[in-house]
Formats: sequence, C-alpha cells, structure tokens
Amino acid sequence: MTATAARYLDSHLHLQEKHLAPQIDIIMERARNAGVARMLCNATREKDWQAVVDLAAEAPEIIPFLGIHPWFAETAVTGWEERLLSLLQQVPAGIGETGLDKCCRADFGRQQQIFLTQLKMASELQRPLVIHCVKAWGRLLEMLEQFAAPLPPIMIHSFTGSRETLQRLLRLGCFISFSGWLATDGKLHLRFLETPLANLLLETDAPAQPNRQLPPGSHDQTVICDEPAAITQLYKLAATMRKMPLDEFRQEIWKNGEIFTDTIIPR
Ligand SMILES: [Zn+2]
Repeated sequence: MTATAARYLDSHLHLQEKHLAPQIDIIMERARNAGVARMLCNATREKDWQAVVDLAAEAPEIIPFLGIHPWFAETAVTGWEERLLSLLQQVPAGIGETGLDKCCRADFGRQQQIFLTQLKMASELQRPLVIHCVKAWGRLLEMLEQFAAPLPPIMIHSFTGSRETLQRLLRLGCFISFSGWLATDGKLHLRFLETPLANLLLETDAPAQPNRQLPPGSHDQTVICDEPAAITQLYKLAATMRKMPLDEFRQEIWKNGEIFTDTIIPR
C-alpha cells in the first residue's frame, strides 16, 4: 500500500470469536485489500484476553482491547483485576469491552462494580476505554459525570441513545461510534448528524451484528457483512449522510481514532 492509499479504521470488532478462527486469514486478507488498516479488537471476558493479544501480535493492524463485557460480569473470578492490570502492563492495549446492559441476565450491581473497576484502571493508566451501554444510560452518565478522577479517552460503541444522552456524552468528551444500525434506523441518522465530526467513529462490531450493515441490494454482495472489509460500505453511506467527500471523511475518522488510541499507539 502506498502512503496515499485509503486507510480505513474499524473502531470496534471481535476477531477473536472462535467460529472465525478457520476463516481469519481470508478475513484479514479481505480487510487489507479493502484498505482497512486499523481494527480495534475487543475482548469480552478473561477467557479471550490471550486470543486478542495473540491476534494483535500477528497483525499490526489489530489493536488489542482487554476487558470484561457486562454480559459476562459474572464470569469475573477472584483476582481478575490483578491479572488484567498485569497484562496491560505488558501489552500496549486499551480496556474494553466493558459497560452496562439492563437487557442481559448478569446482575446489574455486579456489572456496575466490574465497570467501575475498569473505568478506574483506564483513568489511572490513561488507556482508551470502550463502553457498551444498553438501556442503562442514566446510570452510565451518572457514573461518568460523578467520576472523581480525570476520565480516560472514552468510546461509546454502537451508539443508539437519545439526543439528551448524546449531548451529555459529548460534554464529557466521549467519542461516539456508529455501527451498521445507521443504515436502517432513522432516529440514529439524526443523532449521527448531531455528533460533531471530531467525536465520530465507525465500526462493524464484527461478527456481532451480521447482515445489518446496509439494506440488501445496496452493497457489494460478495462482501460478508460481519467482517471488517464491510466497513468501507458504512463509510460511503456515512460520508453521503454528512455530505462530505468520502476521502476527506475517512481521513477525519482516522484522525479521531489516532486521538482515541494516542496512549497505546505511537503516532
Ligand atoms: Zn462489541
């Protein structure tokens, strides 16, 4: 790839998922061919931390994020904090995916404890933090607004909240990442346009959001939607929504990603 070639950022995905393993080489090849030059790969529980670290060690495009997702809050066993801290001291990784989710079975009190521990760790180490939030915006905003120490760089992944939530997150300086929901959700379209360009990120969340990338027939059918190569389709759609030239839009998002990951990737 030449210095001027298009570089796309996929700001959130999960390439460590076991069912992807047999196809990972082809997924990476297709991502590279599409110009996807950076992918923020998020662990969801302690069991997959090492897989994320290993993927990142093999491919410079993959940036590791290690953490515990609210769905798996109850899998966090004694000593997880120390083990996470020690891994973070060895590997230049962000923290995630973590957050709060009122639509899952994990105890909400436990979710909050686990989230707060990761928020504190990200603040102390000044590592970027990736937050998942479903139907728990009030509590999340309270926790962030009342946090006593400086907040780390924060990304809200696959944002689907209200205008008020968006405004409060922006006041906290959060990056807002939009996924394929943008293609089909009219309200989200408005939130996307209300998000300042400097706070925007885009993600596939692959392979967690299959076939939601774009309405059928509007994209290259040879691209499997739940893979990072599909992010180029989302960029096209998003640049059109913003009435911006694709290349200029892509460069702005790339820059936002660099700011978000500033403490783990030398620029
Ligand atoms: Zn995710």
